[in-house]
Amino acid sequence: MASLNGLRVSQTDRTDPSSLGWPIHVKPVVQLPKTPELISATLKRAGRQELFFRTCRESFQSTSAFCLWIIHEDLCDEYPPEGWGPPPESPTPPPFSIETISGSGRGMVASRFIKSGETIVVERPIVIYPIIYGTYDERGVYGVVEDLLEAGFPALGETERLLYLDLWNCKTLTGTLGNQIRGISRMNGLCTRFTRSKHLPFYAGVFPSISRCNHSCGPNASATFDEETMATRLFARRPIAPGEQITISYIDTEIPYAFHQEELKTKYLFTCPCNYCKPTKPTKPSRPFKHPYWNIANQTTNKYVDLPAEIYASDIRREQIAFRMDHAKKLWVEWLSPSSKQSDKDLVQFHEDAMVILAQEGLESKRISHIAYLAHVCAALKDEGGFRRWGSILISLTGWPEGRDRLEVMKTWKDWLCDPTISPAWGLRLMARGKAQNTPPA
Ligand SMILES: [Zn+2]
Repeated sequence: MASLNGLRVSQTDRTDPSSLGWPIHVKPVVQLPKTPELISATLKRAGRQELFFRTCRESFQSTSAFCLWIIHEDLCDEYPPEGWGPPPESPTPPPFSIETISGSGRGMVASRFIKSGETIVVERPIVIYPIIYGTYDERGVYGVVEDLLEAGFPALGETERLLYLDLWNCKTLTGTLGNQIRGISRMNGLCTRFTRSKHLPFYAGVFPSISRCNHSCGPNASATFDEETMATRLFARRPIAPGEQITISYIDTEIPYAFHQEELKTKYLFTCPCNYCKPTKPTKPSRPFKHPYWNIANQTTNKYVDLPAEIYASDIRREQIAFRMDHAKKLWVEWLSPSSKQSDKDLVQFHEDAMVILAQEGLESKRISHIAYLAHVCAALKDEGGFRRWGSILISLTGWPEGRDRLEVMKTWKDWLCDPTISPAWGLRLMARGKAQNTPPA
């Protein structure tokens, strides 16, 4: 047993990374089934359960529905069919307007300065349906979803129907009202998650304003869905200037240029015109990276050496972002072992550089876990000032990991900030170092 500031904590518990909570110990994330094989396996697991449509109203007294929900049977008893309450508060007047964007239809534009972390809009979906397809197979399950959308559409309120039909439509599906409904759902769905679902937790929601946001590979905003209020909050990831377009990302942003262009073209029928795909920024990082983790082999990008230098440099940075996310936990565990040769400075540099790269690629949304690691590093070194500095930044950030235990995770960090010595990481590195000094060389 180790005694630290009056706390007696079993040493095995303290060195076990799982006692440190997020981001070091995280529950496995359910992945979206992406191939036809995985989808049929998912449906097989779901047994003979069915999909049908349900209308969501504010209360039993409401005369019109705000949302048409194509729901899988495993969620039917989890939520009341009606009675979602009035819509959650959204900023008034809204800090944006919907405007025509040259070459990108209509989009959302900031009408005043928006602070980093500020809520831009909170909206409920007009239509929400399960993501259970790999391709738009009209004879398969996806066809069933689209038939239900068409059948349920008249049950929506008139305002919602008009807002929905005004959204951008996929070019290949026009003509009948049914085709219009299908085309709009395919092009405007944002991924949402229902954690209570056993089989199909991922749904796509179509929103009146948030679905207007255009894509950027370095988005300045993000959307998070709250299943308890059936509403999505759009918030700024960095300061947004008046007149600047508000963007989100439709895809995984760490993949190289060639792959993400292909994905956007196949799924959303456009070639990405964002600044990160036509970079005007310098080809070299704004400060040099001098530490062992920068020089990793990069196998993916080597295939695209004929790309313009700026795009190539951006690919390498994005690969670094994924690499640093994957290796953070490994490095942490290694650093805490008595035999570790890793310097404290190198580990700090690893995370600080990650944040520089994230800012260069416009991916500030991903910095939150690096900040949490830096706070843990300070705790492990009993550096109270450092822990408070990083911890306060962490608490002030929006965009904590989604899920039902989110509030609990935030509360734990707030408690540690009140008294850093109760953090399970407190002094871990010093303890490991002490052990190493007491062990005679073999
Ligand atoms: Zn782009």
